[in-house]
Amino acid sequence: MPTPALFLDRDGIFNEVVFRDGGHHSPRNWQEVKHYPLEGLITLKQFGIKLVMITNQPDIERKIICESFVTELHEYYKTTYQLDNIYMCPFSSNDHPLKKPNPGMFLLAKKELNIDLSQSFHLGDTERDTIAAARCGISTILWTRNYNKELKSDFRVSCVQEIVDLISRRLYLRV
Ligand SMILES: [Mg+2]
Repeated sequence: MPTPALFLDRDGIFNEVVFRDGGHHSPRNWQEVKHYPLEGLITLKQFGIKLVMITNQPDIERKIICESFVTELHEYYKTTYQLDNIYMCPFSSNDHPLKKPNPGMFLLAKKELNIDLSQSFHLGDTERDTIAAARCGISTILWTRNYNKELKSDFRVSCVQEIVDLISRRLYLRV
């Protein structure tokens, strides 16, 4: 039977974004990685909710970020947060079907992990995330940061406990 998932964006959710040249970017090496604490989300797994990271990393194709660093970082996140899988798009073209806001990575996860998208949530920090998830019928949650206050989404949160409360309430779980 298909199960719900919490899809998680990476930059701005697992780690802080790096402000550089007037924009926010991905960390390029371990020195630039500042983790946000997300351990509290692991509790969702006991209710059969899959945790799945979905991330664009176009700087890999642009040769700005080394893929081996991204692989190491993702191995760390997968182990630390018991993620069911990580989907990463290394391509820079906005036309690529895997690159958010296109739905490719969500559709792949649905197929490979047997996920019920209509019962699932996406936690992100940018409009690209909410558009991609909404296109797949996934409920959108924005983690409020000082750079996303104007964006629209189904829900907003500002701490891990709020996420757990929100999802357990919506799926009628007894957490
Ligand atoms: Mg992000």
